Amino acid sequence: MSIKALKGFKDILPDEAGLWQFIEQTARDVFHRYGLEEIKVPILEKTELFVRTIGASTDIVEKEMYTFEDRNGSLITMRPEGTASVIRAYIENGLFVRGAVQRLYTIGPMFRHERPQKGRLRQFHQMSVEVLGSNSARIDTEVMAIAWQILQDIGLQASLEVNSLGCAACRPSFKEILQEFLQERLSHLCDDCQRRSNTNPLRVLDCKSEHCQAEYVSAPSIIDHLCQGCRDHFEEVKQTLSSLNISFAVNPKMVRGLDYYTRTTFELITTELGAQGAIGAGGRYDGLVQQLGGPEVPGIGFAMGMERLVMLLSQKGHGEISHVLDLFLITLGEKAHEKGFILMQMLRAQGLRVMMDHEGRSMKNQLKQADKQNAWFALILGERELENLEVVLKDMHSGEQELIELAPAFEDWAPVIKQKIKH
Ligand code: ATP
Ligand code: MG
Repeated sequence: MSIKALKGFKDILPDEAGLWQFIEQTARDVFHRYGLEEIKVPILEKTELFVRTIGASTDIVEKEMYTFEDRNGSLITMRPEGTASVIRAYIENGLFVRGAVQRLYTIGPMFRHERPQKGRLRQFHQMSVEVLGSNSARIDTEVMAIAWQILQDIGLQASLEVNSLGCAACRPSFKEILQEFLQERLSHLCDDCQRRSNTNPLRVLDCKSEHCQAEYVSAPSIIDHLCQGCRDHFEEVKQTLSSLNISFAVNPKMVRGLDYYTRTTFELITTELGAQGAIGAGGRYDGLVQQLGGPEVPGIGFAMGMERLVMLLSQKGHGEISHVLDLFLITLGEKAHEKGFILMQMLRAQGLRVMMDHEGRSMKNQLKQADKQNAWFALILGERELENLEVVLKDMHSGEQELIELAPAFEDWAPVIKQKIKH
């Protein structure tokens, strides 16, 4: 019996790879335009890192992490998100010495043991941004603008929802007010919400149950309980977003699933993916760096799910970003195979995308391959052509053929051919 991939783990096949590359390249281009630098962090970390940052009573830590003992008995976890690792690296490598504000991005796989469904995998990929070292509301707006720009540049639309979760000064008292509200209707709430009303009351507002949501229509709103500092900050975020013509809606019930968020939080949502409508999310995490033993440095970031972007683009019919060859070398006869093999190497060294057939197949078959591999041109090299120092160049799109004279010196062939196929 053949072995299958694990449930929730997916191969990204060659036909899809072009779309992945397009999304990643577009995002990198946007990141660089916004002054971000890349950081690559390990996939495995000490479990403690995620428990201390994401929070012990969150879904991710309670039931979604891939955690195990390694051969030395150390408890390690496959990262479920990127922020914790990037901050660990920032502190460990003293990146704050490079400059007061560090603008970082990273791209890579994340692991969560969730119930697999459309747009929800156990290994998925995120492109994420972390900006460390600024309290300015303009940074919040810039970070949201990055996400916005990526979507624009890859040709997708989503709505932006923002909220403020307050800070260490105002959130505790809001938690109490909310807890009081929950206590009064505890018996009407689902099991999860009953449990969370004690451990993590803000999270109840995020409950997927319609019944619970009906109860929360009259719930107190965090927006009404922000301290002056948080209120001013949120006002400035909204005002600067508007100044950049980025449309958004305030959603006072958006709480996010990680404990470290403070002040601004946001989500990018599409209606085109059914239940898995969140394509990106993030927020501020002032205090997190210090909590992990680093300096008193504020931060803000977001992550975008690449699988969901790929799905949205293929739904729109962008699935066929095909691999295009510049040239397919058609060789007929042993001598032509031999010469052609070396010529192919020279053409590749000249920067051209070139392929040939090594199986000695017929002319007709090789032309078919050229067509299938989406080659712009086919170059036909037979024994007679070799003797006469000429080759036939066929434009695969128009069907036009041209006879090219070759110089006696073999070294000069590649530049001449390259000249002819400039398109
Ligand atoms: P969701 O509400 O869909 O569970 P989340 O709040 O858990 O998302 P974050 O942890 O903020 O998501 O991650 C940011 C983005 O990563 C999400 O908006 C989504 O696009 C993507 N993402 C998260 N979990 C998965 C998953 N299991 N499979 C695929 N993509 C995911
Ligand atoms: Mg989730």
